[in-house]
Amino acid sequence: MENNKTLENARPVTNFIRQIIDQDLAAGKNDGKVVTRFPPEPNGYLHIGHAKSICLNFGIAEDYHGRCHLRFDDTNPYKEDLTFVEAIKHDVQWLGFSWGEKEFYASDYFEQLHDYAVELIKKGKAYVCDLSPDEAREYRGTLTEPGRDSPYRERSVEENIDLFARMRAGEFEDGSRVLRAKIDMASANINLRDPIIYRIRHGVVHHQTGDEWCIYPMYDFTHCLSDSIEGITHSLCTLEFEDHRPLYNWFLDQLDVPCHPQQIEFSRLNLQYTVTSKRKLTELVDEGFVEGWDDPRMPTIAGLRRRGVTSTAIRNFCDRIGVTRSDNSVEMGLLESTIREDLNIHAPRRMAVLRPLKLVIENYPEGRTEALEAANHPQNEDMGARKVHFSRELYIDRDDFMEVAPNKKFKRLVRGGEVRLRNAYVIRCDEVIKNEQDEIIELRCSYDAATLGANPEGRKVRGVIHWVSAENAIAAEVRLYDRLFSHPTPDAGKDGRDYREHFNPDSLRTLTQCYLEASLGEAQPGDIFQFEREGYFCLDPATGANGQPVFNRTVTLRDSWAKIEKQHG
Ligand code: ATP
Ligand code: MG
Repeated sequence: MENNKTLENARPVTNFIRQIIDQDLAAGKNDGKVVTRFPPEPNGYLHIGHAKSICLNFGIAEDYHGRCHLRFDDTNPYKEDLTFVEAIKHDVQWLGFSWGEKEFYASDYFEQLHDYAVELIKKGKAYVCDLSPDEAREYRGTLTEPGRDSPYRERSVEENIDLFARMRAGEFEDGSRVLRAKIDMASANINLRDPIIYRIRHGVVHHQTGDEWCIYPMYDFTHCLSDSIEGITHSLCTLEFEDHRPLYNWFLDQLDVPCHPQQIEFSRLNLQYTVTSKRKLTELVDEGFVEGWDDPRMPTIAGLRRRGVTSTAIRNFCDRIGVTRSDNSVEMGLLESTIREDLNIHAPRRMAVLRPLKLVIENYPEGRTEALEAANHPQNEDMGARKVHFSRELYIDRDDFMEVAPNKKFKRLVRGGEVRLRNAYVIRCDEVIKNEQDEIIELRCSYDAATLGANPEGRKVRGVIHWVSAENAIAAEVRLYDRLFSHPTPDAGKDGRDYREHFNPDSLRTLTQCYLEASLGEAQPGDIFQFEREGYFCLDPATGANGQPVFNRTVTLRDSWAKIEKQHG
C-alpha cells in the first residue's frame, strides 16, 4: 500500500541540530564521531515528551552511525527508585531503540565527580559555605539586583579541602554546609552566582550506591562532567537549560576533562489536553485521578502502549512534529491521526456490539448456524479472513435502529426498512417489541437468503450495519477514553486555576455489557483491532470485574474532536 510506504520508509527529516552536526562533521570536529545520550532521571515513567528526546538522540546516533548512551541522571536519591529504572529501560526498548552496552548511571561517576570537586577547590574555584538555605537565598539577589558575596567565600584552600573531606565523612548535618562554585555573585545570570555543587543528604539509601555517600552532586555539575567522561559530542537538551549553558561550559573550562561536549537546546513537546510534567503526572497517580502510570489516559509511554498506540505511531508522530527552538503546543488531533493511520494499515477488522439490542430473524431456522467468511482487512487480502457465526438471534447496536428515520442521512435500520448485515444477509425489520416503560427491547426481522455476498439486481438497502451472533458472542467490557483534561493547556496556569481543576471527569466511560464476535476469544493482551464502525480497540492485560475481557478504545475512526472544536469556536 502506498500509504504504508510513505509512513515506514520515510527519510529522516533534517532539523537545525542535524545541520549543526553536518557542519561539525564537515569541519572534522570530534574526530568525525557523533555520540549523544538520553539522560532520564529515574523518578517517574517516561512520557510522550521524552519520546521526542529519545527519537532525536537515538535517531541521530543511528543515522550518523554513532551511538547513544542511556544515562540515568540519579543524583537525587529521595525521589528515585529502581522500578522507574526498569520501566524506563523497557519503554526505550519498546520504542525500538538500543543503547547496546552503553547503560550508565551518573552515580557511576560519584568518585570521579568528587575528585573534580577537589580539583576545583585546589584551583580556588570552589568553597565550603555555611550560610543557611534562607540566608543563601537572601545573598543570591534577584533578577534585577546583584547578589552579595558569602562571608565564607574567601576561606583558604586548605580549610575548604578539610571541610569538604569532613562533609564527605559525615561530620555535618543536612543543610548545614554546601560546596559552592566560586564564579560571580554579580552575574546577570543567576545560575552563575556561586551555584551549589554538593549538598549533604544523610540517611537515604541510593538505588545504586546504597549508603556509601552522604554528599550528593548537583545536576549542573554532574551533567556536563558525565557528558565529558562518556565522550558525548552533542548534548541535546530542552530550552529551559539554555540559561544553564554558561555554567555547563564554565565547569568544563575550569577542569582538566577528557573533552568538551557541545550543549544544544531544543523546544520541549507540549501536547494539548494533557500535561507532560513528571511532577504533575506523579500527582495524578498519587492522588488517584488515574489508576496508575500506565492508565490508558496518561500521556506516558506505558499508558499509550496499554491504550493500543504502537511504537511506530509514536515514532511517526515525533518525526512529524520535528525539532525546533520555538515553543508551541501540539494539537492532540495530530497524535490521533498518526495513530489512526498506522492502525488503519495494520489492525485486523472485527465486529463488536458496544450497546446491544437483540434482533431475532423469524424466518431463520431455530438451532441453525452458518459460518460466514469475513475479510480481515478490506484492502489487504494478505491479512486473510475468519469465520463469523450467523444464527437466528443476533445483537446489533442500539444506535443503529430508530423506529422512524429522523432524516435521509440515517443509513441504518428502521421499522419496515432494510439494511445489510455486514458480511451477511439483507434483513428487514418487521416488528418492534417494547417493555412496559415503552423502551425498545427487541426487534423482529426477516432475512433474504438470496442476498449473501451481493445485492440482487435493483435492490437498494439503506446501509450496512455490524452485528454479532447472540449464540456464541463473547461478553466483554469496553472502556472509552476521552481527553484527560477539558482545557487545551491545563497547566498554563494563565487563568489562575490549578491544572487539576481542568481534569475531565468523563475521561473514562465504561461499557460493561458489550458483545464481541467469537474469534476475539483468541486475542492476546496488547492485540489491536478495528471494531468496524466503532474505532480501534486493544485488549487489556487485566480482566474486568466479572472476569470478562476488557478492550480499551485507542482512537475513534474519525476526528470527532476537531469537529467539536470547529462548532464551538
Ligand atoms: P520533567 O520536567 O517533567 O520532570 P525532566 O526534564 O526533568 O521532565 P528527565 O527525566 O530529566 O525529565 O528528562 C530526560 C530527558 O528528556 C531530558 O533531556 C529532557 O530534556 C527530555 N525531556 C523531558 N521532557 C520533555 C519534553 N516534554 N519534550 C522534549 N524533551 C523532554
Ligand atoms: Mg530533568
